[in-house]
Amino acid sequence: MKIKYYGTGAGAGVPEIFCSCRVCEYARAHKGKDYRTRSQAVIDGVLGVDYSDVFQHTLHYGLDMRDIKHVLITHNHYDHFMSADIISRAVGMTEPIHFYFSEKSGAGLAKSVQARKEAFASGARKCNGNEVLVETHFLEKKEVYEIAGYTVIPLLARHNGDKLDAYIYIIQKDGKSILWAHDTGKFRTETKEYLKECGIRFDMVSLDCTLKRGDQITSGHMDVDWCLEMVELMREYGNVDDKTRIFLSHIGHLVERTHDELAAEVAPLGMEVAYDGLEVEI
Ligand SMILES: [Zn+2]
Ligand SMILES: [Zn+2]
Ligand SMILES: [Zn+2]
Repeated sequence: MKIKYYGTGAGAGVPEIFCSCRVCEYARAHKGKDYRTRSQAVIDGVLGVDYSDVFQHTLHYGLDMRDIKHVLITHNHYDHFMSADIISRAVGMTEPIHFYFSEKSGAGLAKSVQARKEAFASGARKCNGNEVLVETHFLEKKEVYEIAGYTVIPLLARHNGDKLDAYIYIIQKDGKSILWAHDTGKFRTETKEYLKECGIRFDMVSLDCTLKRGDQITSGHMDVDWCLEMVELMREYGNVDDKTRIFLSHIGHLVERTHDELAAEVAPLGMEVAYDGLEVEI
């Protein structure tokens, strides 16, 4: 599998628009790996994971959404799912695009799509194309799905209480397995139990690293130490071994590290730092 990170920033991206902190100023001056847009990734050019800052990714990283018909959404915070970029920009589609969420995260899109379809059908709305070729699918946690040739298992994240039922995803194909874990704090008990019992070894793990190391101001995201704790836990369960590539992503200025500083800090811990445009082959 080839995993391309398009957006590796936390909610506001880096630099934050109005911020003058050292990390944001460094990003403005150096661009490159220190610019971080909001969350989006694509596997093998066909399976999307999250859908934010899609226009920027189209402009700057050669993203071509016309090739991508299936998109897993972790949850509907705007830095993971920018709904306006599908609802009002669906013109020109020739076949449906499928979005997959928990029911709580996907209900809003399903409702908007339905309303638009009805408006076109009744003739109340005529501009911006004739049809909304968007399909929404609600996934149940711990169920196993076949989506676009991949095996997908959603697990409950620790994020935003129970309001959104945010998911982390196990994604498998051709004997390779990924754990995609943004946004989440330390894994919930039921998710840990699943990982312990499932017997899956991951070739790649991508973890949420939003917070400054040692300053865990919310339980719904992680810092380097909590990421390390989750890696060690998964090592104990047999999900992770020395060949597993561990990436940190969903990185904001709160981390108080430039890309190179963070990469140098976590390399001895066996972890790598994602950046916008990074492609990983496993
Ligand atoms: Zn986020
Ligand atoms: Zn800043
Ligand atoms: Zn979130």
